Amino acid sequence: MTQARFLVLFLLLAASSVHAKNPVSPAGDNGAASIQYEISLANPERHLFHVEMKVPDVSGELTVQIPSWNALYQIRDFSSHMQQVEARIGSDKVPIEKIDKQTWKIKGHGMVKIAYTTFWDEPGPFATQLNSEHAFINPAMVPLYVPGRTAEQTQLNLSDLPDDWKPASALKLECARVVGKLSCAGGASTYDAMADAPVEVGKFTVIDVPGIEAPVRAIVHTDKLDKKRLAEELHRICAYELKLMEGAPFDSYTFLLHLGKTAGSSGGGGMEHANSTAIAVRSEGEFLNVAAHEFFHLWNVKRIHPAALDPVDYTKEQYTRALWFAEGVTSTYASYTLVRTGLWSKSLFYEDLGGQISDLEARPAGAWQSAEQSSLDAWLEKYPIYNRPANSVSYYTKGQVLGVLLDILIRDRTDDQHSLDDVLRSMNEEFGKRNKGYRDSLDIRMTAERVAGGSFEEFFDRYVAHAEPLPYQRVLGLAGLELKTVERRRPSLGFSAGRDASGALVVRGVDPESNAAQVGLRPGDAIATWNRGEAPRDFDEWLNAQKKGNVLHLGIQRDGQSLNLEVRIGEALENSFVIVENSNAGEKARRIREGLLHGTTQPVTASVR
Ligand SMILES: [Zn+2]
Ligand SMILES: [Zn+2]
Repeated sequence: MTQARFLVLFLLLAASSVHAKNPVSPAGDNGAASIQYEISLANPERHLFHVEMKVPDVSGELTVQIPSWNALYQIRDFSSHMQQVEARIGSDKVPIEKIDKQTWKIKGHGMVKIAYTTFWDEPGPFATQLNSEHAFINPAMVPLYVPGRTAEQTQLNLSDLPDDWKPASALKLECARVVGKLSCAGGASTYDAMADAPVEVGKFTVIDVPGIEAPVRAIVHTDKLDKKRLAEELHRICAYELKLMEGAPFDSYTFLLHLGKTAGSSGGGGMEHANSTAIAVRSEGEFLNVAAHEFFHLWNVKRIHPAALDPVDYTKEQYTRALWFAEGVTSTYASYTLVRTGLWSKSLFYEDLGGQISDLEARPAGAWQSAEQSSLDAWLEKYPIYNRPANSVSYYTKGQVLGVLLDILIRDRTDDQHSLDDVLRSMNEEFGKRNKGYRDSLDIRMTAERVAGGSFEEFFDRYVAHAEPLPYQRVLGLAGLELKTVERRRPSLGFSAGRDASGALVVRGVDPESNAAQVGLRPGDAIATWNRGEAPRDFDEWLNAQKKGNVLHLGIQRDGQSLNLEVRIGEALENSFVIVENSNAGEKARRIREGLLHGTTQPVTASVR
């Protein structure tokens, strides 16, 4: 996934089940019995999904569960959204026993029906929402599953759609009017496949992305849209990545996009799925990077996936040391795609890479937390304290930088005949296409060694498994690039804040040395007003326009009390890094640099012509 940078907003990532098979069409009445779900959207303004689940062929006892995690590597306990779980056999109500926070047991035979309601009103690609605007459903958050029977076919029926709404999903849903109301049905080969195909229901615009070998469409829920531009940008991103990875691993692909106000108040980001992605962004500017990242996940993580994530276990954490590759190197490829297709200029590419290095180096935790440890600790990202610079580094940031460094080393060692592109293609052949999980950093290293012809043991040991300082100058120099340090003074707020699930802006951390701390601002304070109005959407942008000494008036809610605090803007001295081209670089280094920027490999013999 990708997350919007929204001050301290830590919606983090994810890969769920991975490589779900393509959905099959509904089994129909005469097909094999399947587990069926009927989800009624009759009460959008109350945010309640009414669910009826039918489980055939029960003999003696039935256990049902709701996942505790999905879409993000975070235990979020979707059972906490559920109300009034009941079971019936025929028309008779039967006892249902709660076993633990997410499990129920029913005794009986034949077809067992379970009914419940579940409340969802959270915007964004990592959640589920039903309101008067739309329904967005991550299926693992709404339908229960039967442990031991998740490999069975499922059928999803959506009923009582409000007038003018229709569904879109990688699941093929067919709709018909039933007593004036639209109902839609679709099948999935397994529960995991259904869970990996979010559904948008509402009023949206459909954009068919032109000129792609297999159908790619964008379903856009937005208040305003430049259709032609979006289609053209998506065409460039998809066409390039499909060429890079040598063909489409899908029959059809869907971007489910919320753009502008419909993205909700909580920043945004994207979530990858087997044959679709869900993206929410406030502006088209953010969209390109997220789209390029999510589309590349089609290969890296959805098909080329760590063995540790296989099979999915919805009841507890699944740990992998390879998120620096699954997420971070996916970000490397998002930036490569954008510069190689001309959607980013060369200077934007350097600016982005320099920005990643600045972010990474600004975090004291970089001195001790390795890329692998950061991957394992993904599950802690739901705790604000974990996200503090002293406590963690991001495997996105570090992985993106490691990807570029590894690419340069492969190009240098092979005289620019091979690159990281070959590593990704090779892993796709060996693991992705065979649906075989890779052994975290070990298989990544072994593939890179095969491509480059030589050991990467030291690189992986020092910079992936351990937290030694990254060899920026030495490696960037091999590509005719230099890292320069720029010292700058920056206005500083002295506190961080982010939106909680309800959209309220909440203070997350307060720098004890700051004026904000002196005037009494505390973590947990809800910011009701910002200079007597609404808080800015982009804090960084707002802050950059401030001067040291300016006063910010905050209206605070704390324990049911209203307070007014005046916080003086401070100043922080900050090192940041920029990447510049070395004009004295040798011929080989210049070829490697061109190779990074254009996605080409070119040995010295080829450049002599
Ligand atoms: Zn990602
Ligand atoms: Zn929507």
